[in-house]
Order: sequence, then C-alpha cells, then structure tokens
Amino acid sequence: MRRARQTCPCSFCANVPGDPWEQRRFCTKFKALKKNTSAKSYLEVSLKPCDASGFAAAGVLLFRRTEASVEVLMARELRDREAAREERGGDRLNFLGGKRLGVSESAISVAVRKIDLETGGKMSRSTIARMMNTGFPFVHWNVESKFVLYLFELTVNPTPKPAVFSACSR
Ligand SMILES: [Zn+2]
Repeated sequence: MRRARQTCPCSFCANVPGDPWEQRRFCTKFKALKKNTSAKSYLEVSLKPCDASGFAAAGVLLFRRTEASVEVLMARELRDREAAREERGGDRLNFLGGKRLGVSESAISVAVRKIDLETGGKMSRSTIARMMNTGFPFVHWNVESKFVLYLFELTVNPTPKPAVFSACSR
C-alpha cells in the first residue's frame, strides 16, 4: 500500500508528530534546501552555509597518525551470508554516521550523535563535548550523497597538534 504524501509543514521540516524519515522524501522545504547545495565535492576547513542547510546525512572519520601512515576507523556493515556466498556483495565498509532526521538538526549534531551511538558510547565525554563545542578541523562535502564527513584526529595527548592537511587528503 502506498503511503499518503504529507504536505509541509511535515514532521521533517517543522518538528510536528510523525515519521520524519518517511516524510523527508516528500518535504518540499528539504527539496529546496538540497537543490541549493554545492555542485562539487570539496575538502575544506568549514562547511559552506548552503551545505549546512541542505545536507542529507553526516558522520565523522576518526583518524590517528602512526609512525608510518594514517589509520582511520570505519564501520563494517554485515551483509547476509547467502548474499555474500552468491557474490551479490559481502560485508561493506562505510563511514560512521547517519541520516538527518529534521531540518533543525545541524550537521555537527547529527555527526556527533551518530559517532557516539555507532562506537557504542566508547568515546570519552570530554571528546564528545569538544566535538560539539569546537567543531572539527576539516570537513568533506560529498555531492552525490550530500553527506558531510568531519575529520577528527585521535591523539594520546588531550591537546592535539593541528592536523596536517596532506595526511588526510588522499
Ligand atoms: Zn516538510
């Protein structure tokens, strides 16, 4: 059965009761915001205002420098075994992050909420607070998925050195 389209203001754009994820597909306000986003992907020190308004999902790429290279933390999405056996694709790697559930949610709040959830609450509260309060040194905008990926360096020292741009631009 086809679900009726909700007219705006909907639960996605106006925080009224409903299923924001379902209604996001039909939200005219969100469609207009998405249409106005950057036409090219970029890696920058801050998110452009149009992309902060029209992003669809956000996440965090945690990385740390080792002596020889850079390590990153990604999620392994478990796919069903039958599909893997039939080579319809096995497990996949994905960024830690998730979908925006309301127009009022900022990219940073979506990203931090999801990184906290998807690491099982293992991030220290001080690191979570630092992410929320001071933001991130670098951000990647992906034009295809309208995904905002923040880069965050994990260090042993609680006051990290400024991240080296070339270390994470590949
Ligand atoms: Zn709407």
